[in-house]
Amino acid sequence: MSDDDQELGITESKEHSPGDWYAEVVQKAGLADYAPMGGFIVTRPRGYALWEAIQDNLDGWFKDTGVENAYFPMFIPEDYLEREKDIVEGFDPEVAWVTQGGHDDLDQRLAVRPTSESIIAPYLSQWVRSHRDLPLRVNQWNSVVRWEATETKPFFRTKEFLWQEGHTAHATDEAAWAETTLRLDQYHRLYEDVLGIPVLRGRKPDHDKFPGADTTMSVEALMPDGKSVQGGTSHHLGQSFADAFDITFADEDEAERTAYTTSWGLSWRAIGALVMSHSDDQGLVLPPTVAPKQVVIVPIWQEDTKDDVEQYGAEIAAELEAQGVRVHFDDRDGRNPGFKFNEWELNGVPVRFEIGPNEVEDDEVTVVHRPDGESTVEDRAAIADRVHDHLDEVYDKLYDAAADRLAENVREADNRADILGTIGQHGGYVKAPWCGDQDCEAEIKDQIAAEIVMVPLGEDSAARAASEFEGERVPEPDHDGEDCAICGDEATRTAYFAKSY
Ligand SMILES: [Zn+2]
Repeated sequence: MSDDDQELGITESKEHSPGDWYAEVVQKAGLADYAPMGGFIVTRPRGYALWEAIQDNLDGWFKDTGVENAYFPMFIPEDYLEREKDIVEGFDPEVAWVTQGGHDDLDQRLAVRPTSESIIAPYLSQWVRSHRDLPLRVNQWNSVVRWEATETKPFFRTKEFLWQEGHTAHATDEAAWAETTLRLDQYHRLYEDVLGIPVLRGRKPDHDKFPGADTTMSVEALMPDGKSVQGGTSHHLGQSFADAFDITFADEDEAERTAYTTSWGLSWRAIGALVMSHSDDQGLVLPPTVAPKQVVIVPIWQEDTKDDVEQYGAEIAAELEAQGVRVHFDDRDGRNPGFKFNEWELNGVPVRFEIGPNEVEDDEVTVVHRPDGESTVEDRAAIADRVHDHLDEVYDKLYDAAADRLAENVREADNRADILGTIGQHGGYVKAPWCGDQDCEAEIKDQIAAEIVMVPLGEDSAARAASEFEGERVPEPDHDGEDCAICGDEATRTAYFAKSY
């Protein structure tokens, strides 16, 4: 092994030291570096490209469903933040404040936005006059700051993080509810169809919902280390913000009514979940949907075959590019093929083509899948078509592995000892009947730091949002006769306990 190989390689084990392994993959694959201030990171181009892939997908879906992008200031005057009391209480310990501008003290402190309801709602109030102005939907792609004093973990725990926050106002509770589920559906779709990660969807327990919200729903992704990641949240805010910020409208009958609002956000945690879900001890593994380079072509030659091999490789690269494939032809002279294989594996390129004198001779291409190293030989003539099948196969391999992991790691428990023992031994999710009381969760949390990450929705909300709203709140599963696994009182819902990021 050369020094270069040593430097490239991942030295930590995903299985035995997942935290150190994750930090090493993020840095060595060139996704992010640590900033000089604790809690902040520098997102490198390869990491930012993943964020752009997420943006491209979500932004298109948002715009297809009536959302427009806008931008609001990053500072929020203190008296604005105070207008909705739950927001103040919920975020106060984590707010960063600006008290000085240049050499002058400010008359009023400015909060660096921890979230933007308090600066957006006053404008929704101005912009909404009549029922004809509704629904009103704005989204912004920005960063927010939450001053949490925890160890930095790129894309999972940082004081500043990138996200999008959507904010909408509606004439009716039903319309706001449909909006909340529509955005959750879009987050669900992002994970399932773009990131290769199956998710569970549900609502947060009342004591853990967004400050001021009526209902908070989330998608939850299981990581290989057995912890859950909250992958995106969608909040039905009811009328609390509309009341606090006076978002009212003249209805068709001329009566003045209070609007219903929603907000929904997905952060770069999705990148963290992506990296942690699929990557391995060789480095980053990416689904072709988001990989900046989907295929790398590595030529293998001796001096006497170099020209033929390189010409063959360049032709195939051009053909793939014409097919819309993001392809890179690695014809660097100073690196041997083995080095190149390692480097592209570390960087997570989903499919590698190996081309040597034999391939040229036989009109073939050797195709290798990044996730499992599976190697097949394809006809040169069909490769521009077959490449799409290979990209799909790689996606399916990643998705299926994650789906199997999820299926194997949802377990049931009906008593306290079982919840503690099962999570302690296996991690993952434990489903248990629950009375709804926060104290019962606290008992579990105190013992093993697992919490209720969600209560499942009783039916598929995609179908629900598409069909007509039936006047129901979030449906609850039937719990006839079941007792809370912790206190023994009557259970009213199923709780999914898990340790979480
Ligand atoms: Zn209970």
